Amino acid sequence: MANQFRAVGHVLVSSPEEADLVIVNTCAVTGKALSDSRKAIRRAGRLGGKDIIATGCWASLEPQNVITQPHVVKIVPNEHKEKLVTQVLNLDENAFDELPVLRKPLPGRHFRTRAFIKVQDGCDNHCTYCVTRVARGPSLSCSIEDVIVDIKSAIDGGTKEVVLSGVHLGSWGQNLKPQKGLIDLIQAILNNTSIIRLRLSSLEPWDLNADFFDLWKDSRMCKHLHLPLQSGSDHILRRMARKTTQESYARIVNSARAVSPEIAITTDMIVGFPGESEADFFQSVQFVKQLEFAGGHVFVYSPRPGTPASQYAGQIDSQIKKQRSAIMRDVFAKLNVRYRKINFGIPRQVLWESANLISSGEWGLSGLSSNYIRVETNASSNLWNEISLVRLEEVTPKGVKGMIIQEKV
Ligand code: SF4
Repeated sequence: MANQFRAVGHVLVSSPEEADLVIVNTCAVTGKALSDSRKAIRRAGRLGGKDIIATGCWASLEPQNVITQPHVVKIVPNEHKEKLVTQVLNLDENAFDELPVLRKPLPGRHFRTRAFIKVQDGCDNHCTYCVTRVARGPSLSCSIEDVIVDIKSAIDGGTKEVVLSGVHLGSWGQNLKPQKGLIDLIQAILNNTSIIRLRLSSLEPWDLNADFFDLWKDSRMCKHLHLPLQSGSDHILRRMARKTTQESYARIVNSARAVSPEIAITTDMIVGFPGESEADFFQSVQFVKQLEFAGGHVFVYSPRPGTPASQYAGQIDSQIKKQRSAIMRDVFAKLNVRYRKINFGIPRQVLWESANLISSGEWGLSGLSSNYIRVETNASSNLWNEISLVRLEEVTPKGVKGMIIQEKV
């Protein structure tokens, strides 16, 4: 949307009070995400945003609530989101088909060095807690040609790392004729673009097989896999209608590590799902420890209207959910520190995403390694958007302090 506005002469600004129009892309994946979306709308209004357009999942699921928020003048549901800019500007709906996409860094505190390219939307699975599926509809994929055009324009704009994203990225290509798979897309990107680093966002474990990891023989593939597990108890996984088990999940993790031992495997967990007994919960904790994840996000289950699980018996008391969340977060925090430490001494390539002038001739840099470790260092020059070879040395609150061995690789 930002790129389309800019393509026809509008200017992106970094604060709502400077803006003629504010667009808030809302989320509803959990009760907290919904509340954050509401806060984002209110904050934009409070900070001087005059007219606000709300789009995304909360706006699609509860338009009657969203339209009553201060300064909201229009709701654009997900099914019209792709045409939001043409609608707002009264342009022909194909107006952007011929215009180049301008993926230059967006204004803000930190310019973007990584481009998130959405290649898929929607989902055909039926996880019983998931409202995203209800809000986004069936799985749809962008064509290989369109993705490559998008990535090439990101490269022209200076992007060094592309992150492929989608609601159910692993289903990319299944609705295309002839049908294709995510491997085909990734191979096409690696063969037809000069992207330096390619990262995959979230992948469902059942979408992968051992052959998939052959892709990591190409060093441009970031050594990072995010595989949502959600529960380590087979009983709860069945109630969630997740198409995986402890055994099949562990098998996929082992296959990935066989090809790339240093790969960072991260995950998502839901705690307090209806019917989750103490034994189920501690089985999850044990499984997370056993798999030695590099890190993970913990979500407290919140019943989402319109989903089967919201009607399930055995809803868990909110105090117990909080306690379980604290225990699980602690486990991930310790595993994350462990993963950071086992990388000490090993030179890693780091893409610097932010550079702040600390004093004359001294820059504070922060960036991500290919295997998803947040690295900080001080340098004598501004290396923003450069990739350096860095030796990781010391745990910091957010990541690791490193020493630059080679400024530009
Ligand atoms: S895979 Fe499950 S959790 Fe993910 S979007 Fe689809 S239904 Fe929702």
